[in-house]
Amino acid sequence: MSALRSLILAASENRRLQRFVQRYGFRLGASRFVAGETLDDAVPVLRRLNENGLLTNTTLLGEGVRDEAETRAVVLVYRDVLDRVQAEGLRANVALKLTHLGLSIDEELAYRNVAELVEHAAQVGNFIRIDMEESRHVDGTLRIYRRLREGGHANVGTVLQSYLFRSEDDLAALLPLAPNLRIVKGAYLEPAEIAYPQKRDVDAAYARLLETSLGGEGFTAVATHDEALIEHAISFARERAIPSGRFQFQMLYGVRPRLQLELVQRGYDVLVATPYGPDWYRYLMRRLAERPANLLFLLRNLVRG
Ligand SMILES: Cc1cc2nc3c(=O)[nH]c(=O)nc-3n(C[C@H](O)[C@H](O)[C@H](O)COP(=O)(O)OP(=O)(O)OC[C@H]3O[C@@H](n4cnc5c(N)ncnc54)[C@H](O)[C@@H]3O)c2cc1C
Repeated sequence: MSALRSLILAASENRRLQRFVQRYGFRLGASRFVAGETLDDAVPVLRRLNENGLLTNTTLLGEGVRDEAETRAVVLVYRDVLDRVQAEGLRANVALKLTHLGLSIDEELAYRNVAELVEHAAQVGNFIRIDMEESRHVDGTLRIYRRLREGGHANVGTVLQSYLFRSEDDLAALLPLAPNLRIVKGAYLEPAEIAYPQKRDVDAAYARLLETSLGGEGFTAVATHDEALIEHAISFARERAIPSGRFQFQMLYGVRPRLQLELVQRGYDVLVATPYGPDWYRYLMRRLAERPANLLFLLRNLVRG
């Protein structure tokens, strides 16, 4: 892993830097990756993406909540998001983080909160994706996902990260559920005891997870901007005659927008993950760590003022 990536990810926990970056806010360029600070800001962005043939999901940015009442407020916001998506006729689902709903406080609390949202989503014909966070949350997240599925909820999916050694075993354990899984490389700072430090190993593990997941009975969200892996998924699906309804590509708002549209033109489903909310600092730092050249983009905006 590059030293710069580690440095940026470590800085994502720095409160003083957070205050500085938040103050200069969208001027610094956060607006490239975040659809706005409010749902009203995000709705026209989602609509425009839909009009360009892209599917979307949205997320109220936030994580690591330590106060139960705050998790309740997050649930209420997501209920509103689901209602608004229905009222506006948007092609948008919801992706959320369990630590935003209380996983760092109490697993049962997070379960109750997410179960309420999954039920509400079912009532309005929508779907909830549970993002994957730092490795200490993987067990709790997978337990909650399994509990929801075994409790009869079909409109829920989760995520596996190819940088973690454990993910191939996790995938094997989930396959009997015909899971809806998003495969990602992984965005957090993880120790070499549990995660591949070298990009080529992360990429190779990604290809293995992809093939196993596409070969199973579930749905696979191929979430990457890596063109070699995208083309690998396309040729693997073609060779195995995997129907196009069994997978989709997913990318982040503001990242490789031309590639997103090219895939739509080639006839593939592409979903753009489009978060919003005032709490965008850590999300932005992860986007910088993925491509330190983005730092230059931000600094240029700062200089231009
Ligand atoms: C829809 C979606 C959902 C995700 N959900 C999760 C999650 O739940 N948990 C989690 O840990 N991670 C998540 N991630 C992040 C993921 O783990 C990676 O950190 C991120 O996708 C970058 O890896 P990559 O697969 O694009 O490949 P890379 O090898 O990092 O990048 C391939 C190419 O894509 C471009 N690129 C990649 N990132 C950026 C960027 N930030 N800015 C500009 N260009 C870029 C560059 O051209 C780069 O050469 C998600 C990613 C996506 C797309």
